[in-house]
Amino acid sequence: MTELHKSFDYVVVGAGSAGSVLAARLTEDENVSVLLIECGGSDDLPEVKDPSKWPTLFYGDLDWGWSTQPLRSCNNRVDHLPRGKMLGGCHSHNASAWVRGHHSDFDNWAYSGCPGWSWADVLPIFKKIEDWQGPASDLRGTGGPIFVTPPVDPNPLSTTFIEGARLSGLPVLDDINSSVDLLGAGYFNFTVKDGQRFSVVDGYLKPAMSRPNLTVLTHAETDRVVLDGHRCIGVEYRREGRIHRVHADCEVILSAGTIGSPRILLLSGIGPEKDLQSVGIPVAVNLKGVGRNLQDHALLAGLVYECQGSLPPLRNNGAESTLWWKSDSRLIGPDIQPVFIEFPLASPELADRLPHDQCYTISPSVVRPASRGTIRLASADRTDAPLIDVNFMSRDADVTAMLAAVELCREIGNSDAFAPFRAREVMPGPLGQTDMIDFIRNSVSTYFHPTSTCRMGQNPMCVVDPELKVYGIEGLRIADASIMPNVTSGNTNAPSVMIGEKAAELIRA
Ligand SMILES: Cc1cc2nc3c(=O)[nH]c(=O)nc-3n(C[C@H](O)[C@H](O)[C@H](O)COP(=O)(O)OP(=O)(O)OC[C@H]3O[C@@H](n4cnc5c(N)ncnc54)[C@H](O)[C@@H]3O)c2cc1C
Repeated sequence: MTELHKSFDYVVVGAGSAGSVLAARLTEDENVSVLLIECGGSDDLPEVKDPSKWPTLFYGDLDWGWSTQPLRSCNNRVDHLPRGKMLGGCHSHNASAWVRGHHSDFDNWAYSGCPGWSWADVLPIFKKIEDWQGPASDLRGTGGPIFVTPPVDPNPLSTTFIEGARLSGLPVLDDINSSVDLLGAGYFNFTVKDGQRFSVVDGYLKPAMSRPNLTVLTHAETDRVVLDGHRCIGVEYRREGRIHRVHADCEVILSAGTIGSPRILLLSGIGPEKDLQSVGIPVAVNLKGVGRNLQDHALLAGLVYECQGSLPPLRNNGAESTLWWKSDSRLIGPDIQPVFIEFPLASPELADRLPHDQCYTISPSVVRPASRGTIRLASADRTDAPLIDVNFMSRDADVTAMLAAVELCREIGNSDAFAPFRAREVMPGPLGQTDMIDFIRNSVSTYFHPTSTCRMGQNPMCVVDPELKVYGIEGLRIADASIMPNVTSGNTNAPSVMIGEKAAELIRA
C-alpha cells in the first residue's frame, strides 16, 4: 500500500449498495477528495459473479457470518444473518432481485417526519439509477448505471407459480416495478447482465476507480469515528493488525449497513446511555435510537412440495417469481410476499422432513412486520460480534399475517397449475391453527432485509434527520439501509441504492 493521505474531504465507510454509489457520485466533482473504506476485498470472483451461487457464500470469507440472538418467539432458535463483506457489500452477495417497493412505503416515510423522501421525491431517483431492459413504461428509467432486466429464460416452475396465482384469482403483473400498487404475481427484475451479477461495483464504482480524487481502501475495518467535542473529524480503522486514523475535512458518512453503522456509532460512544455504560464505553452523545427499531422481513422456509420426476435445473438466481398481496383487504398496501424457490428450503429444525432434493418450495414472507428488534454491543472490545436480536414473530399481528400467507401459498401450491409437477405437499400439510403456528415459529428465518437501526426522522428515537445528519454531532451522516424509518414492502437493495444517490444529492446541495 502506498502511503495514505492523512486527510480527505469526505470519508465514506462501507462500499456496499449505498456507499459505493455515494463515493462514485461525490467524486464526479474533481475538486472533492473521497476515501472509501471497506472491510472486505474484491468482488471479482466466480462465485460472486454467478447469480445462482449466492447461497454458497454463506459463512465464508465474503460473509460477515453474524448470527442472531435466540429468537424468543420462535422457540429460541438461532438464525444466521448473512451480510456481504466485499466491494459491493450485500449487492455482491444478494439474490440480484431488483424491487423498489410500494409507493406508500416512501409516503409513510415522508409523513412520519422525513420531508423529501415521498414516492414523488424518490421516483425520479429510481429512474435515474436504472438501465431497464424490459417493456417501456413512464415509471421506468433507461440509460442509468444499473442494468436491470426481466429474467432470461425463466424456470418453468417459476412460470407455473405465476399461473397458480392467476388460477387462485390474483392479478398478474407484466412488470412488478411498473406497478405502483404492487399487488399481484410476476417475475422479479434482476441486476444480471450476460449471465453475470451486475452490482453497484459494476455500475458505479469501477467507472469511478480511475479518478485521482477517489481512494478505495479495502481490508480496512473501521472501529469508530473520531470526535473533537461534538464534531466528527475522522475515523479510526484497523488494517494489517495496526490501528490508523484518517481525517475528514468536511464529513464522515457511515454506509456500513444495518448492523455495521450502529455498531460503529456504539463503539464511538454514540448511542443509548445505559447500553454504553453497561459495556463500559464513555458516552459522547446519548442518542437513544441507535441500534433500536431493527426490522426485517420474516421469510418462512418453507412450504415444500415433492416434484414428480426430476426437478427442472435452477435458472438465474433460483427464485425468479413472487407475489405481493394483503393479508387483510383493509390495508393500504401489500404486507405479505410469497417467493417461489426452485429448490427445497427448510429450516435446520425441519430439514429432516425433506425426503430428497427433488423438491421445490413456496416461501411466504411478512413484509410489513410489527416486530422490532435491537443491535447492542456484547462488550467494548471492537472485535466482538454485536448482539443482534431480530425478535421475529414477537407481535401477534405478524403471526396472523403469516398464517394468511401460508394459506394463500398452499392454495397456489395445490392449484391445478402445479399438477404436472406436484407429487405431494411435503409440509406443512393441513394443520390445525395451533400446529400451524408452531410450524411457523419453527420455520421463520431472515429474508435478508434488516433495516432501520439508525432511523431517520424527527422524534427522540431518531438517529438522523431528513438530511441524514446524525443528531448531536456535526460532520457525520449515515447513508444506508439503517436509516429507513420502516422497512419497505419489497426487497431492500434498490431502496439502499436510492439512499446512496439521495445522500450524494443532499451533500452536494
Ligand atoms: C444473502 C442476501 C440476499 C439478498 N437478496 C436480495 C435481493 O435479491 N434483492 C434485494 O433487493 N435485496 C437483497 N438483499 C438485501 C440487500 O442486498 C441489502 O438490503 C442492501 O444491499 C443493503 O445495502 P447497504 O448499503 O445498507 O449495506 P451493505 O450493502 O451491506 O454495505 C455495507 C458495507 O459496509 C462494509 N462494512 C461494514 N462494517 C464495516 C466496518 N466497520 N468497516 C468497514 N467496512 C464495513 C460491509 O463489508 C459492506 O461492504 C439480500 C441480502 C443478502 C445478504
